[in-house]
Amino acid sequence: MFVSDCLNVNELGHLTIGGRDTVELAQTFGTPVYVMDEQQIRKSCESYRESINKYYGGQGLVAYASKAFCCKAICKMIDEEGLGLDVVSIGELYTAQSVNFPPEKIFFHGNNKTVQELLAALEYEVGHIVVDNLTELEILNQLAISQNKKANIMFRIKPGIDAHTHDFVRTGQIDSKFGLALETGEAMQAVKAAVGMSHINLKGLHCHIGSQIFDIEPFQHAAQVMLGFMAEIKAQTGLELSELNLGGGFGIKYLPEHDPVEYDRYMMLVSQTVKTTCQEKGLKTPFIIIEPGRSIVGPAGITLYTVGSVKEIPGIRTYVSVDGGMGDNPRYILYQSEYEALIANKAGQPKTRTVTIAGKCCESGDLLGENMPIQEVAPGDILAVLATGAYNYSMSSNYNRISKPAVVMIKDQQARTVVKRETLEDIVRNDLL
Ligand SMILES: *Cc1c(COP(=O)(O)O)cnc(C)c1O
Repeated sequence: MFVSDCLNVNELGHLTIGGRDTVELAQTFGTPVYVMDEQQIRKSCESYRESINKYYGGQGLVAYASKAFCCKAICKMIDEEGLGLDVVSIGELYTAQSVNFPPEKIFFHGNNKTVQELLAALEYEVGHIVVDNLTELEILNQLAISQNKKANIMFRIKPGIDAHTHDFVRTGQIDSKFGLALETGEAMQAVKAAVGMSHINLKGLHCHIGSQIFDIEPFQHAAQVMLGFMAEIKAQTGLELSELNLGGGFGIKYLPEHDPVEYDRYMMLVSQTVKTTCQEKGLKTPFIIIEPGRSIVGPAGITLYTVGSVKEIPGIRTYVSVDGGMGDNPRYILYQSEYEALIANKAGQPKTRTVTIAGKCCESGDLLGENMPIQEVAPGDILAVLATGAYNYSMSSNYNRISKPAVVMIKDQQARTVVKRETLEDIVRNDLL
C-alpha cells in the first residue's frame, strides 16, 4: 500500500510506522521529526548479507555507505548486522570509532582527503583507504612512512559507464571529479606507482557509478570493465588483485510507480557476470564488496511536520506550508527529487487535493514537492513525507538558524531518540563575541 513495508494505517485512520501511531509520535517528540524503523533497516542488512553470501560463496562483504545516514546508533546497528562501513570524512570516521566499529571493515572514501584525515585513517588502521588520485597516493605513502605503518588501499577507478541517473549523482563517466580514468592511462600509472611504494599495500579496485539506479545492466558492465582492468594489471605487472569493490547506488521506491530491482536479482546477475568474466580472463574470482547506502536506510524513514498555513492562489496552485523544509530535506531544491506525502491524521482517506508543499525558509525554492496528491488539508494537520531515511538528516543544515530535528528510532513498538533535537543553545554554541 505504501512505498515502505514499515508503514500502515491503524483503526483511527492514522499513519503508523513500525506499528506506532505517527500522530502520537508527533505529539510526544514534536515536529519536525525524523522517524525510522529499526526492523526495516535490519531486514535490509540481512537480505543484502544473505544474498552476497549466497552468490559469492561467503567471499563478499556489504559495506553500508554511512553518508546516507550517519550517527552512533546506525553505526552500532550496522556492526551488529555484520556489515562493513563506508566513511568519507574524519567526522564519519570519528562517529564509527566512537562505537568501536572494527577498522578492518571500514572503507575511507573521498576525492580530497586531508592530511588530518589520512593520518586518522592510518592511526585507526582503517582496512581500506580508497585512494582517489596520484597526489593522494604520494602523500599517503609519505605519511605511512612517517607513522611506520602500512596503508591498505584500493584505487577508485572511473569505469566510463553512464548510469542513466541525475547528472549530480552520476559518477562513473570520464568527466567526473572522482577517481582515476582508464582511458588516459592514469589508472595504470597509479597501480604501477603503488606497487613500487614501500608502505602501500594495494589490495584491490573500487568503482561507484552513481546513485538511485534502477537497471542492473550498468552494474554488470562496470564489473566487466573493472575485471578487464584487473587482467591488464596482471599481464603488465604480474600482480593479481584480490578485492573488487563494485560500489552502491541501488534505487529505492520514492513514488508508488517506482520499481526498484530486488537485491537478490542484482546479486545473482552481477555475480554471474563476475564469474564468467573471471573465467574468460583467467582470473581468480576476487573478494567482492558492495556499498549500498540509500537502499538500507531510505525506505525505513519518514519525516513528520505540522501544517501551518494553507494558501490557495485561485487558478494557480495551493501552497501548504510546514514547520520544516530545505533545512531538513534539501533534496527537492538540489535534485527536484520526488516524494510521496500524506496527511498522517487522515491517512485512511482518499487523496483529493493536489498541492505544493512549502518549507519555512526564506527561499522561494524551499519546497518539498510540487503537484503532490494529498488528502484534504487544514492548519494543525500532521504531514508525513515518506522514504526520507537517506540523505535527509545527513544533508540537513541550520539555514535560517533553524534547529535540526530529532531522529527517533522505533524498535518493537518502542520509540527512542537516537539524535536529539538541537536546542537554541546549540544554535549559538560556536558563536563568539
Ligand atoms: C554514495 C556512495 C555510495 C552509496 O550510494 P547509494 O546510492 O546511497 O547506495 C557507495 N559508495 C560510494 C563510494 C559512494 O560515494
